[in-house]
Amino acid sequence: MGGRSKQFDVAIVGAGPAGMAAALYASRAGLTCAVFESMGPGGQMAQTERLDNYPGFAEGIDAFELAFAMSSQAERFGAQRISDEVESLQLNGVKKSLTCVSGDEYQARCVVLAMGAEPRELGIPGEAELRGRGVSYCATCDGGFFRGKTAVVVGGGNTAVGDALYLARICQKVYLVHRRDEFRADAVYTDALAGLDNVEVLMNAVVEAVHAADGDSPMPHVGSVVVRQKGSAAARTILTDALFIAVGTKPKSTLAAQGGVSLDEGGYVVAGEDGVTNIPGVFVAGDLRKKPLRQVVTAVADGANAATSAFEYLATHCS
Ligand code: NAP
Repeated sequence: MGGRSKQFDVAIVGAGPAGMAAALYASRAGLTCAVFESMGPGGQMAQTERLDNYPGFAEGIDAFELAFAMSSQAERFGAQRISDEVESLQLNGVKKSLTCVSGDEYQARCVVLAMGAEPRELGIPGEAELRGRGVSYCATCDGGFFRGKTAVVVGGGNTAVGDALYLARICQKVYLVHRRDEFRADAVYTDALAGLDNVEVLMNAVVEAVHAADGDSPMPHVGSVVVRQKGSAAARTILTDALFIAVGTKPKSTLAAQGGVSLDEGGYVVAGEDGVTNIPGVFVAGDLRKKPLRQVVTAVADGANAATSAFEYLATHCS
């Protein structure tokens, strides 16, 4: 069943900050453009209650408010938001096509992939229920809410150790729990840990569960975690206000892979800051791109760069 068919200069898949910045820059450059999203604007950003680290908002900003402001700003310049999930992409050739779950098909001369990434979960009891209530996947987003309090960080990579260093400046006490006897993180991070007396490192240890604080109901909030030393039957309860899970991210790159876009070993799309991928006319922006720092501020920069690359591609290849 075919639905309506529409053509755009640029089709942007994903309405997180990268996709919306790409839409803003593409539409302001006079390109017709559509942003496809299935869950409302914001992407991962919308999972955070408040953003304290987006420049320009001295008191922080509500993440939903920022997401909708970005969306309406792009729409003001003519970008079209299409609330439908893209289920397949045909990216080769001059004309690209997108098929949505509704059955609708769209054509575009360029595609910007901005599907983002999602934090990997631990899958422990209490994690899903307490997400956003002390369980967080982003210390730089949420750490400020735990000033003077206790936080537990899980993971052994650059993100986890970087998070522990960041939180050590904010929190009274930080526990860093890693499942092995050596960190995956670079020495520049682990060496910095040594000088901190408010960080306690628990190696060969796993967090088995996170519990709400007693008497918190009906608005439960993290109160403790259960940590077990590997090879030991005994478990230890650590009282904490927050659990930061930093065990890596998983890119949402299934559609990109199916479309023939080159990915790195972690599944992220390989491209420089210009967002240019291995397929002519296909660009990437935001957390889906292989890069060291995944933040809203780097995502919007990516979006602007990808839209500018699309504009240059259209001007030189399709005029
Ligand atoms: P990562 O390097 O993949 O590390 C994930 C960590 O989580 C590993 O230590 C891993 O343990 C642990 N882990 C995974 N699954 C787990 C589970 N189920 N239970 C407990 N622990 C688990 O992820 P990342 O730290 O987010 O970094 C991602 C990429 O971004 C890396 O390439 C990193 O170098 C880069 N990055 C760079 C910077 C920087 O240069 N400034 C900052 C942040 C991130 P194992 O070690 O045992 O596998």
